[in-house]
Amino acid sequence: MRMRRRADTDKRLKDGEGVFIPTVDVEENVNLFIKEKEYFDFNKLFGNSNDVVVEVGCGQGFFACEYAKAHKSINVMAIERISNVIISGVESAISQGIKNVRFLRTRAECLPKYFPNNSVRKIFLNFSTPLPKKGYAKQRLTSDRFLKIYRDVLIENGEIEQKTDDLSFFEFSIESLKNNGFIIEEIIYDLHKTDKENIVTEYEKKFSQQGLPIYYLRAKKA
Ligand code: SAH
Repeated sequence: MRMRRRADTDKRLKDGEGVFIPTVDVEENVNLFIKEKEYFDFNKLFGNSNDVVVEVGCGQGFFACEYAKAHKSINVMAIERISNVIISGVESAISQGIKNVRFLRTRAECLPKYFPNNSVRKIFLNFSTPLPKKGYAKQRLTSDRFLKIYRDVLIENGEIEQKTDDLSFFEFSIESLKNNGFIIEEIIYDLHKTDKENIVTEYEKKFSQQGLPIYYLRAKKA
């Protein structure tokens, strides 16, 4: 059953080519895998030289599609490691005819394989898995090793925007950003109580329906 579902998803992803960028599965040794570069040529990929933003862990891709529709002169790269999830974003972008979004099935660890240094204007981290257990701290998407990767691919003055419902993870992220060469420019402890423009993601909808406040920050590469 599981095999069949995966095969069906693979076929649907193949149909989504153009919007979906196929990649090979990451090998055991990530360091070795990312050393062999396959840099994107964004001008070729999007047919223009507009700025590129990245969403890491895009889930079903609602945010990426809405952001792309609202910012037609920005190119959006949405990254997600799970095929069965990313397929929704791919099909939604195709059915809506959104031209400035692409989906990439890969892990955040692999960004340096595909994104040259100084190539990304902004990185969005929307409701990344908080991984509260201490043993998993290194896998949080705002831990040292990921922030080092983001710093490299971001342009000068490039930014990270993070949203989460998890206060401990939020506080961990703030410290980690400060320790890794980012300046925190904006912190909001209850985003939905402000009139800040906001695209509500799938997880955000779920959490705010439960009455949880949404934490938001914007940090700049120092
Ligand atoms: N951004 C979406 C989904 C949040 S859930 C929203 O706000 O609704 C977090 C997502 O990040 C999951 O889909 C998970 O598969 C993905 N993810 C977790 N670790 C990742 C990694 N290292 N690389 C890429 N995606 C990752």
